[in-house]
Amino acid sequence: MSEQKVRVRFAPSPTGPLHIGGVRTALYNYLFARKHNGDFILRIEDTDKNRYIEGAESYILESLKWSGIYWDEGPEKGGLYAPYRQSERKDIYKKHVSYLLDKGHAYYAFDTPEEIENMRKKIERENKGNAQYDSITRKFMCNSLTLSEEETRKRLESGQEYVVRTLVPENEELKLTDIIRGKLRVNTSTLDDKILMKADGLPTYHLANVVDDYLMKISHVIRGEEWLPSVPLHVLLYRFFGWENQMPEFAHLPLLFKPDGKGKLSKRDGERLGFPVFPLMWKDPKTGELSNGYKESGYFPEAFINTLALLGWNPGTEQELFTMQEMIREFSLEKVNKAGARFSPEKAKWFNHQYLMRKSSEEIARELLKIVNEKGHDTTLGKLTQIVTLVKDRVNFIHELWEQISFFFEPPESFDEKIVKKKWKEKTSEVLNKLIQIIADIEPFSPENIDKALNEFMRKNDVSAGVVMIGLRICLVGEAKGPDVKEIMAILGHSEVKKRIKFALNNIKIKN
Ligand code: GLU
Repeated sequence: MSEQKVRVRFAPSPTGPLHIGGVRTALYNYLFARKHNGDFILRIEDTDKNRYIEGAESYILESLKWSGIYWDEGPEKGGLYAPYRQSERKDIYKKHVSYLLDKGHAYYAFDTPEEIENMRKKIERENKGNAQYDSITRKFMCNSLTLSEEETRKRLESGQEYVVRTLVPENEELKLTDIIRGKLRVNTSTLDDKILMKADGLPTYHLANVVDDYLMKISHVIRGEEWLPSVPLHVLLYRFFGWENQMPEFAHLPLLFKPDGKGKLSKRDGERLGFPVFPLMWKDPKTGELSNGYKESGYFPEAFINTLALLGWNPGTEQELFTMQEMIREFSLEKVNKAGARFSPEKAKWFNHQYLMRKSSEEIARELLKIVNEKGHDTTLGKLTQIVTLVKDRVNFIHELWEQISFFFEPPESFDEKIVKKKWKEKTSEVLNKLIQIIADIEPFSPENIDKALNEFMRKNDVSAGVVMIGLRICLVGEAKGPDVKEIMAILGHSEVKKRIKFALNNIKIKN
């Protein structure tokens, strides 16, 4: 396998929106492919008509693109092994199922759902082993192994419904290797004779998945842990087809756990704890229900991907922030943990904050400008960039900035009573009155000059910063929050500062 070109695939089923666990699987495949100069293939596994959801496929494609995960072959793109949508490959699967039937590795089964249910109930009642269609029970069911050749042919010709099942060998020890989980052993008697082709003539996941992995020359199968129990059957199928030498290597990724308590992360945890579990917003086509997405919640794709990368992969150093290029360089399946990874919404926010801090203030301002305009205010990019520099370390998301900066655009109309009561002294009004003239003379109105002038004023008049600075802050912001007072003043400019001080002096009535 070592000289074979690395070719990996992400093979989602369009049965709903892509969960963040799915994005992580796609990401690890992508990183692995890029690291080894291999190919990353996107294959849509849409053979289950009953679970097909309108819009899910395009949602998956959009989500991957937003996340910065691009495929070399797949829908929209094509490739040497097209088509990449399983519903367009039906004939290929039919041919392969016929091959297995001819070679005696598969058989026709005519049992009705009720007959199968009865078999299950009987076994459960009698407590006699596994209640499944397997190497023991198949001997008592209605299939081409128990019926005569003649009878089977007659049923097929008469158009009776059937499925094709795997003839799993009895009592054989299978040895499997998984890159993440190591060596595993499974006795074939514990396996059931999985259906390979359904009554509607479409293949099941197992058959289509194995056939396509082989035909698309997949070298490594990297997927979620929930598929680990399928490996024995897949290994058997490789053997039945005579493809054992081209069998891919398997790597099953650890589960994502909910932030609190035990168990797998689910959509409900997101709703309960208020964080998205989907990359993009999803509207359920049946119920119309909307589920929030990372994109719409204000996450940067880089932060989202960085968060996911570290859920299960341990780079072995203290480094937490990785660009895609760095992840590609450092990634290895050997450093993926066996144990499940607990998802932390707080950590995701932390990552977003880190990426926000790494963006230039101008880039942030450009986004923020839209919000400012929506609020009905006009400003220049230059001025907003200055403002952003002052406050960006206080937030995790761009949309949280408005709350921090609104006072620059909307002068306070009222004043935080608690803080006024505590900090606005008799002297404050008198001092601020005097200050208005001083402020008018500061030229240019820069933070440095303001600082100098204020210090001089305080010294000369023997008043403390406690009175002057807090008084000014109350006038300019309306409450005890915001960045440095001199920076606020410089941005607001002479006349606005004067106006706000006067307004405050006229409106603050001290009751103490
Ligand atoms: N279609 C399967 C899924 O929905 C793919 C599993 C695999 O990668 O083999 O996850």
